[in-house]
Amino acid sequence: MISKTFDPSRRRLFRQGAVIASGAALGGLMLKVEAPAQAGTVAKATAKYQDTPHGTQQCDGCMQFIPGKTASADGTCKIVAGSISPKGWCMFFSPKG
Ligand code: SF4
Repeated sequence: MISKTFDPSRRRLFRQGAVIASGAALGGLMLKVEAPAQAGTVAKATAKYQDTPHGTQQCDGCMQFIPGKTASADGTCKIVAGSISPKGWCMFFSPKG
C-alpha cells in the first residue's frame, strides 16, 4: 500500500541526490575544460594539407592548430591527423578570431 503522508527522509534523499548530480555534472564540465585538445583524424591528403603556407594563411594562424613545444616545432591539428607544421596549411584553415 502506498502511503500518502509526506516522508521528510525522502525529501532529504532527493536533495542529496540533486546535490550529488549537480556536483557530478560540474565535475564533468571541469574535466571537459581541462582535457587537452585531441588531434584530428582526417587524412592529410583528404584535407589537401601541404607543409608550406597558402599565401598569408598558415597553421599557426589557424584556430585548429595545437602548437608543439616551441613556436617553430611541429604541432598537431584538431582536424587533420599527424604531425602538423606551423607553416603548413590545408583546406580547413580557419583564422584565429
Ligand atoms: S590549416 Fe588545416 S592543418 Fe593547419 S591547423 Fe588549420 S585545419 Fe589544421
